[in-house]
Amino acid sequence: MTLEQLQTQFEAFKAKKLSLDMSRGKPSAAQLDLSNELLDTVTSNDYLSSTGAETRNYGGLDGLPATKQLFKDFLEVSSVEEVVIGGNASLTIMHDIISRGITHGMCDSYQPWGKEKIKFICPVPGYDRHFSICEHFGIDMIPVACTEDGPDMDVVEKLVANDSSIKGIWIVPKYSNPTGLSCSDEVVNRLSMMNTAAEDFRIFWDNAYAVHHLSEDQDQLKNILTTCKEFGNDNRPFILCSTSKITFAGAGVAAVGGSTDNMDWYRKHLFISTIGPDKLNQERHNRFFKNIEGLYEHMKKHAALLKPRFVKTLSILEEELGGTNLATWTKPKGGYFISFNVPEGCAKRVVALSAEAGVKLTGAGATYPYKKDPKNSNIRLAPSCPTIDEIEQAMRIVCLATKIAALEMKASVAV
Ligand code: PMP
Repeated sequence: MTLEQLQTQFEAFKAKKLSLDMSRGKPSAAQLDLSNELLDTVTSNDYLSSTGAETRNYGGLDGLPATKQLFKDFLEVSSVEEVVIGGNASLTIMHDIISRGITHGMCDSYQPWGKEKIKFICPVPGYDRHFSICEHFGIDMIPVACTEDGPDMDVVEKLVANDSSIKGIWIVPKYSNPTGLSCSDEVVNRLSMMNTAAEDFRIFWDNAYAVHHLSEDQDQLKNILTTCKEFGNDNRPFILCSTSKITFAGAGVAAVGGSTDNMDWYRKHLFISTIGPDKLNQERHNRFFKNIEGLYEHMKKHAALLKPRFVKTLSILEEELGGTNLATWTKPKGGYFISFNVPEGCAKRVVALSAEAGVKLTGAGATYPYKKDPKNSNIRLAPSCPTIDEIEQAMRIVCLATKIAALEMKASVAV
């Protein structure tokens, strides 16, 4: 089709004055409804924990015992001492750990991170909020490309072996944001065993999508804490998770796992910043799930809502762009996102054209540190919120925008 013909199609879409959104990785209203019973589990005359703890009062710094047990199983750590329950957001825990690293140092630091200019390795494309934390604290970001198995470990190993100011790496190990892909056993091994010039190097193992499978065909990952321990690097990983995309994104429960030394360090800092967490919400979650099996069962209901949305997104991509050599995209088995790569130099134009026709996408560049995608090629697609019909319309527009941007680019190169 010629550029003019595509533009005619585009004008027809514009005339519909649509308002569609594929930018946000948040649960749909129907997904939130799946957990409404959670709100009725604790009532005005039934609120004590299973061990009789007063959930309304101060105390219980690192969580109710039953909540710690639930998250011990969720985080796949070996004891409840290796778990600390937080507030509603795992992002807050990540922020706080780094903030305290900067002011006080980690449990095995010889000086606070803030005494030197430190750096983090940022696998790309990645999660913008990780990059925002680094930017906020003035931590230099080193982008490292991802393969289908996780970060390019040849590059990571060289970097960390030679530079003691590299203190951390962000990893979304399972159904990553935005690729939807998972780390292979080899990547888990190499991350666990690699020599780091910094003795207080940390992996921020953000397992935000640990149980977010789309079907029975699931990625199973090697246990990061056990593997790090095998190589004597017990303090290397902080494992993060939350129920933001399991119960309520704004009122879930977050947790962190890691070695007892790491968790004791975190408890020590937490003691200064709070007299105790929201145990009422923890108790709601204990009662709602009962145990980890209950949580896994609950996730099947999410999958039933999410899978058709992924299937629709992928089928339109295939129909419109399959075999054109214009774009590539991931086909995740779980998580919330599809990573979509358009021709180099075109991502911003695709996002702008889509917006003109009423489709909001995550900003081009958002998946890279400092919002700078050097190839201007990656776009994150988030199919969880729109309806199937909306996805159909939105994706037709995104694909049309891709074809137009590619032809415009070709024309400009020819001139
Ligand atoms: N990590 C990743 C990789 C995410 O995609 C998200 C949600 N977009 C979060 C963390 C945020 O989690 P929480 O709500 O627990 O802060």
